[in-house]
Amino acid sequence: MSQAEGINGKTVRRVVIAGGGTAGWMAAAALSRMLGKVLDITLVESEEIGTVGVGEATIPTLVTFHRLLEINEQEFMAATQGTIKLGISFEGWREVGHRYIHSFGVTGRDHWMANFHHFWMRAHALGLAGSYDDYCIELKAALEDRFAHLPRYQMNYAYHLDASLYARFLRRFSEGYGVRRVEGKIADVQIDGASGCIDALRLENGDVIEGDLFVDCTGFRALLIGKALNVGFTDWSHWLLNDSALATQTTAVRDAVPYTRAIAGRAGWQWRIPLQHRVGNGIVYSSRFISDEEAREEFLSSLEGEIIKQPWPVRFRPGQRHKCWSRNCVALGLAGSFIEPLESTTIHLIQRGILRLLHAFPHVITQEAIDDYNARLDAELQHVRDFVVLHYHATRRRDTPYWRTVGTMELPPSLQRRIDLFRETGNVYHVPTELFAENSWIQVMTGQGIVPKRHHPLADVMGEAELARFMREIREGVNATVRQLPAHMDYLRGYCPGERPQALPA
Ligand code: FAD
Repeated sequence: MSQAEGINGKTVRRVVIAGGGTAGWMAAAALSRMLGKVLDITLVESEEIGTVGVGEATIPTLVTFHRLLEINEQEFMAATQGTIKLGISFEGWREVGHRYIHSFGVTGRDHWMANFHHFWMRAHALGLAGSYDDYCIELKAALEDRFAHLPRYQMNYAYHLDASLYARFLRRFSEGYGVRRVEGKIADVQIDGASGCIDALRLENGDVIEGDLFVDCTGFRALLIGKALNVGFTDWSHWLLNDSALATQTTAVRDAVPYTRAIAGRAGWQWRIPLQHRVGNGIVYSSRFISDEEAREEFLSSLEGEIIKQPWPVRFRPGQRHKCWSRNCVALGLAGSFIEPLESTTIHLIQRGILRLLHAFPHVITQEAIDDYNARLDAELQHVRDFVVLHYHATRRRDTPYWRTVGTMELPPSLQRRIDLFRETGNVYHVPTELFAENSWIQVMTGQGIVPKRHHPLADVMGEAELARFMREIREGVNATVRQLPAHMDYLRGYCPGERPQALPA
């Protein structure tokens, strides 16, 4: 559109990606695989600065992303020491000693008028149904530590991966599709005075990299979108209290389980991400409620295995840029937004940003394309934010100041409405394009202890004998499927044994 609004009217041929973490290399892989023949793509990264070094648990949409790019799953998993993730085990979230799993599966069988859990609620009250967990293949498989690929994509799964090996893997892939990698530190971002758009990056060694479209993947530094273009940041720390993390890697003391563990603590939580060759561990906490020393002590005293890499701290601010796409710059990954890692959603949001950019890929950048991109991404970010906040607020814990604060804080109105609706009716308000489907909301809301007051009247239409048979058939079907699965790691040892990383050119 008009120059006044900050668009320079240039045809987009040269794409410059600033940063080579997960965001940078995912963007490079997708852009080069899909548009490499018509674009000139350069990625600048600095070995000396390095990457954030965390981000190893994913959600099932990454499987789809890889399929779109025709990435071979066995090669990818072997190269990244990958394991399968069927869900997240939330330990100590509803109350100390309680555990539930948010699985990626479908629970039971929905009717078009009412979700399965309405039938389950009635059956359970009548003593005709077991635990809600018994009706989901992925959840049962996670609990029994089993996995295999089933026909017709019957099993929903994601991956645990080694983040630095993933960046290496994607680098090889992207270079194979023509991406030019430049090693060096960005010293300056050159702005065109007339349009306010970015013209070029100047490196410390004096090299200048010109481009038409810039993708800011410089992590929390946000060198392009934040520092150069001055796009502000909406802070969500009143809903998401955690602002600090400490991460480390340890040797594995047992075979990897097919789920991430999220273990609630005094003023935050810890993750355990089991890979083939090691375990990723971290503590996420609020510095308002616990000191760095206390968090470190809580963390180190609960680790299993030998420490392979000394713990490193990460500070963050939850929130999002006012605009993730501004002028000729699109911010992906930590440069654009960060909702803390509880539901492993950042890699997904990177992927969504990339796919939306590919859909809207401009010959010439227009304000309409920018506005549409930002509006869609905003809606997605707020949905994910609400889902994560739910875990903190819907708790019965009141044992520390931290849990008392999150348990009684005021919620975003959009989340409050969802909780109220579920509590009153057992129904979940859900828009089909949203990431977390009804079953995710139901699993987490019931897991956190929100009990609906009533079920849908349709569940009363079934006679008791019919209801009992319906429940039994589903449960037996789940059990029969899960029984035939091998142990998770036995399967992976045959399917994608982790390989030693190959050397990359300098
Ligand atoms: P970074 O990894 O920080 O990469 C930034 C890149 O920019 C680097 O290559 C760096 O060298 C380069 N750079 C910076 N400045 C310059 C400069 N001046 N010149 C040249 N290059 C420069 N996400 C998930 O999906 N699942 C998880 O389980 C998960 N866990 C997380 C846990 C924590 C504690 C945190 C903080 C985040 C977590 N995330 C998770 C988010 C995840 O880590 C990121 O989404 C992912 O790593 C992408 O990071 P990035 O590429 O945006 O930034």
